[in-house]
Amino acid sequence: MAEFTPQPSCADDVDHNNLTVKQASQRIHDLLSPISSWQKVSLRQALGQILHQSVVSPRQVPPYNNSAMDGYALRSADIKNAPFSLTNIGVAFAGKPYQGRVETGQCIRIMTGAKIPDDCDTVVMQEQVQPNEDMVTVHTDLKAGQNVRLAGEDIDSGDTVLPAGRRLTAADLGLLASLGIAEVVTYRPLRVAFFSTGDELCGLGEHLADGQIYDSNRYTLYGMLSQLNIDVIDMGVIPDNRSALRIALQQAATDADVIISSGGVSVGDADYVKDMLAELGEVNFWKIAMRPGRPLAFGQIGEAMFFGLPGNPVSVMVTFYQFVQPALKRLAGETDSDPIIFKVPCDNVIKKRAGRFEFQRGILFRNNEGQLRVSTTGAQGSGILRSMSMANCFILLEENCDGLSAGSLVNVQPFAGLV
Ligand code: AMP
Ligand code: MG
Repeated sequence: MAEFTPQPSCADDVDHNNLTVKQASQRIHDLLSPISSWQKVSLRQALGQILHQSVVSPRQVPPYNNSAMDGYALRSADIKNAPFSLTNIGVAFAGKPYQGRVETGQCIRIMTGAKIPDDCDTVVMQEQVQPNEDMVTVHTDLKAGQNVRLAGEDIDSGDTVLPAGRRLTAADLGLLASLGIAEVVTYRPLRVAFFSTGDELCGLGEHLADGQIYDSNRYTLYGMLSQLNIDVIDMGVIPDNRSALRIALQQAATDADVIISSGGVSVGDADYVKDMLAELGEVNFWKIAMRPGRPLAFGQIGEAMFFGLPGNPVSVMVTFYQFVQPALKRLAGETDSDPIIFKVPCDNVIKKRAGRFEFQRGILFRNNEGQLRVSTTGAQGSGILRSMSMANCFILLEENCDGLSAGSLVNVQPFAGLV
């Protein structure tokens, strides 16, 4: 189960009705530490998981001096001003080393990746020699040691190649394989239970009655969670009533490290949500100076951590990316990394009122001159999920910004790299 230090508390000096995005993120971060369970897994299973222990190389990469080119291996002591000739006495292929000695005045034909004989230390590319029967004439000036990949030049034995807290990528799997490592120790993947709340919600495949809408939040949540390599528990739609919510939360708290709900945390919602969360755990209701996604419930129920996200479909995604995803990464053992944010000119006018931090949806693109630009996706209502679907980045607009003219520089956070 997840570990929390210390208990979230309502009694503090921060105004829960007006938190900044930064304050909310910091408080969530400060309350969490990584889970303690770990497992030994095979390399393929480890893809996307978080290293619990650093990996130290047991050997050198490359394991022996080898040729970076197809050409001829020679002794640097034999190098003279071009042209000069050497006797070709053999051949080395990748995987089939030349076994004999290479004496003064001799060389061997060598292929890329083949082991350099102990007597040799230099390779001349085949394009720079003229072979003639068993002699080769070098017609370019050479430098001692050229075209040789030295043993251990990539990785030395004892080097830390991957630190604890690293989420393993495809390149990492290859790197580990190159060291002969078949198993690694990773954190156990988090278990996250999630559900939607609302009497108006209809599941896919069910008849859409008058006044109902399809539940989309469980699908966006599923997608965002799956990208984090999480074991997900989809608990379906919970109707707006006390006992159904109680049962769902109790079940989720025993099954999962983290519970995520959507809907039912805004001002207009029945008070039972607050009552129920107070009865079952310690949950704070925050109002964050952001748009979309103002209300957020955060705390602990039983052993599990709880996030109550707002119901509006865009708010769910924005609050997930800003608060839940960093929290899940931290709980899962991943080392903190700063989000990728950079400035680009925005092609259109941006409408905004001062007061809240806005996460407008944007499209990064290259204009006809090949320069990177961003434009907004159009209407920015928190229910317009299409804006998220069209977007490939957030446009980040600080609290005090009160609109921008076309061509202004804006900070963007690309979706690629959000996980
Ligand atoms: P709430 O936060 O429960 O007041 O919901 C805010 C808005 O989001 C309302 O228009 C809801 O109908 C809508 N909404 C809530 N949950 C979902 C959901 N799972 N899928 C789609 N829309 C939702
Ligand atoms: Mg609702």
